[in-house]
Amino acid sequence: MISKQIKILPTGQVAILTIQNPPVNSLGSALRVALGKALNEAIADPGVLAIVLTGAGKLFSGGADIREFNTPLTSQKPLLRDLISTLENSPKPTVAAINGIALGGGLELALGCHYRVADAQASFGLPEVKLGVLPGAGGTQRLPRLIGVEAALDIITSGDSINADDGLRYGLIDQISVGDLVQEACQLGLLAADSTEGMRRLSRGPVAAPKDPGVFEVARQQAGRRYRGCMAPLECIACIEKTLTSDLDEGLEFERERFQLLVNDDQSKAQRHVFFAERAAMKLPDADVQPRPIKHVGVVGAGTMGGGIAMSLANAGIPVVLLERDQAALDRGWKVMKDNYAASVKRKKLDQFAMEQRLALIKRTVEYQDLANVDLVIEAAFEDMDVKKEIFSNLDIVCKPEVILASNTSRLDINVLAAATSRRSHVIGTHFFSPANVMRLLEVVQGAETSPEVIATLFNLARVIGKIPVLVGVCDGFVGNRMVSPYTREAHFLLEEGASPAQVDGALRRFGMAMGPLQMGDMAGLDISWAARKRMAPTRPAHIRYSSVADRICEMGRLGQKTKNGFYRYEEGSRNPIPDPMIDELIKECALAAGIQRREISDAEIIQRTMYALVNEGARILEEGIAQRSSDIDVIYVAGYGFPIFRGGPMFYADTVGLPEVLATIERFHAEHGELWTPAPLLKELASSGRKFSDL
Ligand code: NAD
Repeated sequence: MISKQIKILPTGQVAILTIQNPPVNSLGSALRVALGKALNEAIADPGVLAIVLTGAGKLFSGGADIREFNTPLTSQKPLLRDLISTLENSPKPTVAAINGIALGGGLELALGCHYRVADAQASFGLPEVKLGVLPGAGGTQRLPRLIGVEAALDIITSGDSINADDGLRYGLIDQISVGDLVQEACQLGLLAADSTEGMRRLSRGPVAAPKDPGVFEVARQQAGRRYRGCMAPLECIACIEKTLTSDLDEGLEFERERFQLLVNDDQSKAQRHVFFAERAAMKLPDADVQPRPIKHVGVVGAGTMGGGIAMSLANAGIPVVLLERDQAALDRGWKVMKDNYAASVKRKKLDQFAMEQRLALIKRTVEYQDLANVDLVIEAAFEDMDVKKEIFSNLDIVCKPEVILASNTSRLDINVLAAATSRRSHVIGTHFFSPANVMRLLEVVQGAETSPEVIATLFNLARVIGKIPVLVGVCDGFVGNRMVSPYTREAHFLLEEGASPAQVDGALRRFGMAMGPLQMGDMAGLDISWAARKRMAPTRPAHIRYSSVADRICEMGRLGQKTKNGFYRYEEGSRNPIPDPMIDELIKECALAAGIQRREISDAEIIQRTMYALVNEGARILEEGIAQRSSDIDVIYVAGYGFPIFRGGPMFYADTVGLPEVLATIERFHAEHGELWTPAPLLKELASSGRKFSDL
């Protein structure tokens, strides 16, 4: 776990302690025991003049072992903070030789050393905030003392990493290695051992006040925007603020208390659930199947989605051929893409050169023949089965035999598309989310005959372009949109029963959703679901409750933000929803026509009706095998639908509430509102056997 080597240099002996705990050199309890022992031996060894700490393989350390949180192992001695204190109080100089990555507890360990040297590729970060906790081994106290309050606030509250150049600029590291990292660290240690200046230690007193006393308030506002509703960033800020008034020991005590509070809270458990859920979702369903290389991709349709998909590919350096039905549509799509890139340049997220390079990777065409040599085609034309079938049969003719044909359809049957080709095993769904160049979720839709190799290839491509792939099966709306249907259905019913659009959306925003269902409908365009409802109208049983509110709104030509009105109205150039009394009247008319007596609706009812509609449908999806794991559903909702990460996704949320309680409420809704609320058998089974979705 810790390999110890004594290096004899002309100027003296150095103990080199190497952390060896693959895959990420995490600092679990067994490793801490080994490190504590090695450190004490090195300190006691009279021949050793300095101690260097480094990591085996490609990285220094990825930090604490998160799986140990909330288990007795976290409190097993030595704690990380004990080791850091040993390093800091060592009578011999301690130097961190940071190879590759130092994250979380790994960086805190390095902060305990008297000196830090890193290689040029190194990166440093304290990502704890992303897991709903804070750096609990001194990070919030030592980093501000080392690099100042402002920079520490940035690093700790964002959770993002910085590179070696920035590390040097901030003073986080003392030097960037130009040759042999460990050798240079040894030399630095011996130089320090030889110095008469005494041991360099971070100040124990308070840190200097920031130039702008408003920095904490600004940080709180930024954290509120970025980590909506999460407690952890605010606790991080409080800890950093504490460095202004406390010495190191007091600050460490404060940090410890705040860490304990967070680590035991449901928010952090939910965030850690999402962290592991994403990793599970991204695992290839069949690890033995090799993905094929994808060097060249065709995209059909240069509209909202096709443009974003082409940009995602080009951003990862993959050449794209973009096909449209005519030159005018192609030019329109091209202009939008150029404008999007130009906006990124203006916001300094991208430089001009990179923008030109990316645009140069996208060739435009109206000729199918130009797709003859691509390895994959992603179709993003109109959501119309006939249009898509024709495109797929054209592709079947011009493309090379081994090409993979993918559709970005939101709801249509992948198997029908596959049947329009002579290679059903090569057809798959790739359901990107809007805007496709930004949103990280990708539902990978497995058709009845899609081959494992094709799935593996799409999973690999997703990783290359920075998306989170989640494998789903074929059904109307796959996982995400299928669950949205009962969710919005309940939102519409609640309007008829007495709530206003602003009340429904407000309650769900306060619950933590990025936006409420009615505002989301206005943003996506109300015509899309209107068309789907019209398609289903002939087969809809007459005895099942149906709300006509959304249809009536669409019939007025109000299709959402794009027409400046929908459930709300919008002022020119603004996306801010303004309640519209005309809609309140329309809702009342619909309720009257349906014979519904309007009443007071509580926020609690809004949450239960909408959330449990998601959960019940999610349970059916699991029963049918449309999703592989309940945690996959959580990933889809958090990454694709603005579900609050601190609630862990709808299925985790249901587990947190308790399935017996969720079921009892659903049974009550069933009695009150009828068969749309029939409890899913899986939910009943789990609730009656005392299990949770996460036990599946
Ligand atoms: P869009 O109307 O913005 O773009 C469709 C583009 O396809 C248009 O530019 C059109 O000219 C082009 N097109 C139509 N027929 C074509 C043909 N035969 N050959 C070549 N090009 C053709 O639509 P969109 O919002 O980008 O949606 C595209 C697909 O993505 C749909 O299947 C939709 O359901 C799906 N989708 C949309 C969203 C979304 O939020 N907009 C999200 C996920 C999936």
